[in-house]
Amino acid sequence: MPVDPMPEPTEAAATVPPDEGLAGIGRLLAGRDVAVLTGAGLSTESGIPDYRGPTGSLRRRTPMTYQEFTASAEARRRYWARSHAGWRSIALARPNAGHRAVQELRRDGLVSAVITQNVDGLHHAAGTLDAVELHGGLDRVVCLGCGRTSTREDLDRRLRELNGAFRDESSPRNADGDVELPDALVASFRVAACRACGGILKPDVVFFGESVPKPRVRHCFELVDGARALLVLGSSLAVMSGLRFVRHAARAGKPVAILNQGSTRGDAYAAVRVSLPLGPALTELAEGLAAAP
Ligand SMILES: [Zn+2]
Repeated sequence: MPVDPMPEPTEAAATVPPDEGLAGIGRLLAGRDVAVLTGAGLSTESGIPDYRGPTGSLRRRTPMTYQEFTASAEARRRYWARSHAGWRSIALARPNAGHRAVQELRRDGLVSAVITQNVDGLHHAAGTLDAVELHGGLDRVVCLGCGRTSTREDLDRRLRELNGAFRDESSPRNADGDVELPDALVASFRVAACRACGGILKPDVVFFGESVPKPRVRHCFELVDGARALLVLGSSLAVMSGLRFVRHAARAGKPVAILNQGSTRGDAYAAVRVSLPLGPALTELAEGLAAAP
């Protein structure tokens, strides 16, 4: 994703009282054809920390950039060691009430499209099979040499064979699915290469310093263009890769609503701005709309 500085602290747009705000989002959804953009805040209730959100506070360290990953074998060793240690907990995470509510809204046509900044696969696991993974998915691996993709499950088996009892799941993990590890442990880690060509394997996710593939961006703009409104769920919109859709919708005169715990970089564009825990709020919305005549 494009490297983009964290937002300057801004005056949060006048936040409507939560009850009225949630009703405002309900009215927006009742009009149908709402595109949804989701972020890490939607997955925190599945046990995946949001390192930018209110529960994650400050990031523990700067995420590895695409340039570091591709330029240095040591960086790749560090990345894969941490990722290997944290992968099982991401793989075991399950969709929460928020993902399920989004799927109900999608199924009923109130939501026309789901674009997610998350790489945890939880929208798909909740049944939203057409959710667009803007930043890719951790369940796939791509070879930088031959371009082949393979499953992370397969790589996980290979890494376990190469590294025996390496796994250490005691450390905190972040939304990218990796953990902090002692240097000595990282130094002993053995990385796997592409089976087909011996090339460098990379998770099929967009790193910092890397662009989202253009066709995927175009597709997302089309989804926003085809919608009547845009609803942001659980994203602080700190990176431009998500914020641009909010700006695009606002410029086109479409209402933007934001449901997120804490302020966001898109607040100035939002007609409705609600700060509530996502799972309960989305469940209330979906139930209220399902009961509506
Ligand atoms: Zn290859």
